[in-house]
Amino acid sequence: MDNIHIRCPKCQWEPDGQPYWQCTCGTMWDTFSTGARCPHCGKVWEKTQCVIHAGGCNKWSPHLDWYEGLDDVVEKLKEEIKESWLVPAFER
Ligand SMILES: [Zn+2]
Ligand SMILES: [Zn+2]
Repeated sequence: MDNIHIRCPKCQWEPDGQPYWQCTCGTMWDTFSTGARCPHCGKVWEKTQCVIHAGGCNKWSPHLDWYEGLDDVVEKLKEEIKESWLVPAFER
């Protein structure tokens, strides 16, 4: 997972690990540390807003769009899965 960069897909602003986001339950946390899930009530946020007071653009984007390089990782995993053929024990 080293080649994944998190940044706003609209303005390229990069979150710095601060708890900028607030859930409707009042919890403030870094949404990228939990994959958009509120650590308090468990609500998963499909869209994430860019943080304007930290230098961002204030626009909403799907949470997964913030992960640059994720497509490559998924493709690589698919390749690895394709190469590993799991056979039932009785065929050995
Ligand atoms: Zn919550
Ligand atoms: Zn932005």
